[in-house]
Amino acid sequence: MNMKPRKPIPQPKKQVQVDLNEAETMLCEDCGNGVYIPAFFLKRLSPLMSPTGKEALVPIQVYSCGDCGKVPDKLKQEVDVSS
Ligand SMILES: [Zn+2]
Repeated sequence: MNMKPRKPIPQPKKQVQVDLNEAETMLCEDCGNGVYIPAFFLKRLSPLMSPTGKEALVPIQVYSCGDCGKVPDKLKQEVDVSS
């Protein structure tokens, strides 16, 4: 019998087991709400930057406050949105 040992499946780094009780809940800086809804920034690629040579819109998902709609600055920085 040829039982090759299976290679361990590489786990994506983001799915590390964490104890969420230890994690801080991110609260809205403006209103203190702790529930967020998915939102998108749309980055516009100029034709010069776009791989297709045409202007393209690239959606980037972030989260906005479910109460007042504010997107946390931390997320904005990751997306590099100039405001
Ligand atoms: Zn808020």
